[in-house]
Amino acid sequence: MGTMSNTITFFGKESFPLEMHKVRIVQKLRLAPVEERLSAIRAAGFNTFLLKNDVVFMDMLTDSGVNAMSDRQLAAMMMADDSYAGSMSFERLRETASAIFGKEFILPVHQGRAAENVISSAFVKPGNVLPMNYHFTTTKAHIGLRGGKVVELYGRKAMELTSAEPFKGNMDVAALKKLLDAERDNVPFVRMEAGTNLIGGQPWSLENLKEVGALCRERKIPLVLDASLLADNLYFVKTREKTQAERSIRDITRSIADEADIVYFSARKLGCARGGLILTGDSALYESMLQFVPLYEGFLTYGGMSVREIEAMSVGLEETMDFDMIRHGPEFIAFMVDELVARKIPVVTPAGGLGCHLNAREFLEHVPQTEFIAGSLAAAAFIAGGLRGMERGTMSEERNADGSEHLSEVELLRLALPRRVFTMSQVKYAVDRVHWLFENRKLVGGLKWVSEPKILRFFSGRLDSTSDWPEKLARKFRADFGDSL
Ligand SMILES: *Cc1c(COP(=O)(O)O)cnc(C)c1O
Repeated sequence: MGTMSNTITFFGKESFPLEMHKVRIVQKLRLAPVEERLSAIRAAGFNTFLLKNDVVFMDMLTDSGVNAMSDRQLAAMMMADDSYAGSMSFERLRETASAIFGKEFILPVHQGRAAENVISSAFVKPGNVLPMNYHFTTTKAHIGLRGGKVVELYGRKAMELTSAEPFKGNMDVAALKKLLDAERDNVPFVRMEAGTNLIGGQPWSLENLKEVGALCRERKIPLVLDASLLADNLYFVKTREKTQAERSIRDITRSIADEADIVYFSARKLGCARGGLILTGDSALYESMLQFVPLYEGFLTYGGMSVREIEAMSVGLEETMDFDMIRHGPEFIAFMVDELVARKIPVVTPAGGLGCHLNAREFLEHVPQTEFIAGSLAAAAFIAGGLRGMERGTMSEERNADGSEHLSEVELLRLALPRRVFTMSQVKYAVDRVHWLFENRKLVGGLKWVSEPKILRFFSGRLDSTSDWPEKLARKFRADFGDSL
């Protein structure tokens, strides 16, 4: 089936993405009044990770473990085979995943970062250099913990937040070549991340991946693919890479996996379940990683996952091969981005996967970077609309060795759209509240640390506002909207 048969043309002027699924289980939502939102974000130390869900209207924190599951996934969960060793649920996962990715060996893990723990334990030694298109928070932490150093080799366009560049996740192959020349035996693997998370869910092209793969094979260095956000990257390869337009999602997936020696992913994203997986076709690489699964995760046929999630993952991976399934997220995100652009609100373009990314540095021009621009915008968006987003900026970085703040290259507020979860009217509501916030942006001030953990501080660190700006913002909301929520 080509792209054409999936296109819906509207008779009227308005055009919008159409849900290719229907909702059969719902969860009630409550919109807390602005005063309650204000006191909740204060109580949460201005960290959206610490908010309790009963005050959150749209949970746009992440796409991890919160994607809508299908009727078929739920049905499969009821038929799971629970046993410590030799579970048939695991056998079904092995068959499905091996067929999709064309890799014989699979290792189950409880989530994506657990795969990173296993891979880093097996291959990263102190002083090693790890080239990648861009880092992810947990990847960098695991590599750093073992004394390895992450080197990001993204292309020139990756950091241009407003752009028409279709593949900002591409690796700079010339830079990789130079690095491999200089470091020779000091590179245990090269890592490519699909749907590059921290730069706005931006994809690479299959062409770029093939160039990276060819170079790695020439130098006999394994290529590790982080496929957590593969669904989005697949959508963009099919819709933006001309040579791939007529190919099926299954064929494109296989071409991608064929380039990598190890594929790993968070099934909280890929496959709409809760778990993780490592695949390889190389028995030596498999043997190197094997021992760490029983050590950290659990026996080799469950790896810390419940068998129900394993069943859901098998079905979810299979469903990911359906273009109608993977298009929903990117198309809703593109709709939201277009609506924000039309209101002149700074947002990362072109639209990527996993969510809509506000460019906090332009949104809050007046807030200094040392006061956590993106974190301030996250708190403000919660006050404005009960929208829980995630800071992706300086708060998400770790401090430099000398203790100074490592100022992030980009300051983004990610408003994630978990796959198939939100309706069109909820997306329109989010756009409306962000629009109001943009008109009132001058009221928003900065944040400062109150308590700051050493590792992955953004998860549980607490902050305070630098002034009473949150109160002022809430008062303005009440004045503008009257009794309304
Ligand atoms: C989410 C994510 C991970 C980590 O997966 P978890 O299941 O959250 O541990 C790793 N890499 C990328 C690109 C991700 O988006």
